[in-house]
Amino acid sequence: MIRTFIAGAALLCSLAAHAELKVFACEPEWQSLAEALGGDLVQAQSATTALQDPHYIQARPSLISKLRQADLLICSGAELEVGWLPQLLAKSNNPQVRPGNPGWFEASSLVRKLEVSGSVDRALGDMHPQGNPHVQTNPHNITIIARALAERMAELDPGHAQDYANRASDFLARWNQAITRWETRAAPLRGKRVIPHHKSWVYLEDWLGLQEIVTLEPLPGVPPTATHLGEILHLVGADGGGADYIIRAPYQGDKPSLWLSERTGIPALVLPLSVGGTEKATDLFGMFDDILDRLLAASR
Ligand SMILES: [Zn+2]
Repeated sequence: MIRTFIAGAALLCSLAAHAELKVFACEPEWQSLAEALGGDLVQAQSATTALQDPHYIQARPSLISKLRQADLLICSGAELEVGWLPQLLAKSNNPQVRPGNPGWFEASSLVRKLEVSGSVDRALGDMHPQGNPHVQTNPHNITIIARALAERMAELDPGHAQDYANRASDFLARWNQAITRWETRAAPLRGKRVIPHHKSWVYLEDWLGLQEIVTLEPLPGVPPTATHLGEILHLVGADGGGADYIIRAPYQGDKPSLWLSERTGIPALVLPLSVGGTEKATDLFGMFDDILDRLLAASR
């Protein structure tokens, strides 16, 4: 009995000793990437799930305590989390993960941001004032972010620098093969016209050559109105000839999508915007596989 207890305690200690880096991710795609690059050297958690809108969550006490213990914070940034992260940072009192410190990692700052026009109108409710923050839907962005993240992990945990470098090169080799496969499969999607619920997919559209004709939201963050939906119906025509897909993330209400789909015959799809968004999106590879599966299956 005592021996079992000691053995159990030793096992717990060795597990704890293994988790060198505590990662606090704002979104599940970054938790998944940290796990892919860190394996058992990291203990990663996400503040949001793929079934929650990362623009809006509550700054719960459990998140404050997780952030207090974190060595590394990974968020999309570009004000995606402006509604809750500043409060968590203030209350967690962990200088390591504050902006500008080595434990702060803002994924969107590394890639070419889209929709940085400077013409957004906050007064009208536009919630993408620093350009579009939903950068994870282009796998080439993931490549750039993965490289930088592996370097940052090595910097924070120098004793395992070689392990992070090895894992990154293994991940990137598999990732590049997957990109080639995805780009071949996605060729028939080029030029397809999409109506997303929110401007969540501009990086996917840029990557695949999809054409966004309008969004169900009149402005990012402003819920669809009857007037705006009526205008879209007029735009695409009752035969739906003006668009190929209506798309939304799993956490966005289905009513506006279905309203338009029922009147036009345009297929309304749910696509995983993050890891865990659909059953097949169990990691970043599965997320892109499933996005393409769903688009191709509904292709008209
Ligand atoms: Zn957004």
